[in-house]
Amino acid sequence: MALINRVTRSRFFHLAMATGIAALLSLSCTQDLSLEAGPADAPDLASITPGNIVGMGGSSAGLPSERPDGETAPAGDERELYYTVYTVQKGDMVGKIADRFGISQDAIISLNRLKNTRTIQIGQLLKIPSIDGIIYTVKEGDTPASIADKYRVSLEKVAMANGITDNAIPAGSMVFLPDAKLDWVTIQEINGDLFHKPLHGSYYISSRYGWRANPFVNARTFHNGIDMATAMGTPIYAALEGTVSATGYDVTYGNYVIITHHSGYQTLYGHMSKILASKGKRVTTATKIGLVGNTGQSTGPHVHFTVYKNRATINPSTLWN
Ligand SMILES: [Zn+2]
Repeated sequence: MALINRVTRSRFFHLAMATGIAALLSLSCTQDLSLEAGPADAPDLASITPGNIVGMGGSSAGLPSERPDGETAPAGDERELYYTVYTVQKGDMVGKIADRFGISQDAIISLNRLKNTRTIQIGQLLKIPSIDGIIYTVKEGDTPASIADKYRVSLEKVAMANGITDNAIPAGSMVFLPDAKLDWVTIQEINGDLFHKPLHGSYYISSRYGWRANPFVNARTFHNGIDMATAMGTPIYAALEGTVSATGYDVTYGNYVIITHHSGYQTLYGHMSKILASKGKRVTTATKIGLVGNTGQSTGPHVHFTVYKNRATINPSTLWN
């Protein structure tokens, strides 16, 4: 009896996944949601048959054994993973949409690869999972069990949602982790409040991030940070906790400080009148690392502020509110 039940559920699961894949595929054709490899690319779903999903309760797989009696699983366990598509309406916010579908913001952020929750557009299509959770890209050395442990979620649910039948999974594949939440760095990045501004008082932006006419050379150049202009001698603070990795003088940046942070971030502060930080020192967002000046290629007192993520510059203004 338990076995028959399981087969029925698994068949439904298979169908649900197939529907989800179709929705994902059609979505990726019409809309640039840049889900490089959706959950549809999780370990070769085409090869999964209801038969081998049934096997996942088996003890030989190293996965949780069958529930006693198999019939009365806690509510929620029976919900299968499939995706629906939601069109963003006027006035929508990610949190409100999540509430409406009974899932977390993290699920919508993760599934749709949102970089910033403030930038969803009316008419934008969002993939909504039927159960709460996030997408995870499998790293070298991961196993379904280690992933479940890392995110403190049920291995059985991970296995069921992804049709995983043994404790091995190829690196690079995407898995859906039911009930998992995004880590705090990701959440802060997405909410745009990871960094503090290096100037705590008033300033104006004298030059933005991006291409500009360079006042010093007769060509358009890429401005890799933002220029925040304020009074000479104003304190400059670290934008995020970290360790000072370099200080010095540069023809372009004048007196500068570079700080290395977690998660692949580095920040550079230029044109200082005075450097107050030294290499190797730990800093927080309360640490004064220098004073605003006009050294290097500068036409007035300001701090040039660059943010690097894994050595590539990003627009600092996307990282704070
Ligand atoms: Zn600049």
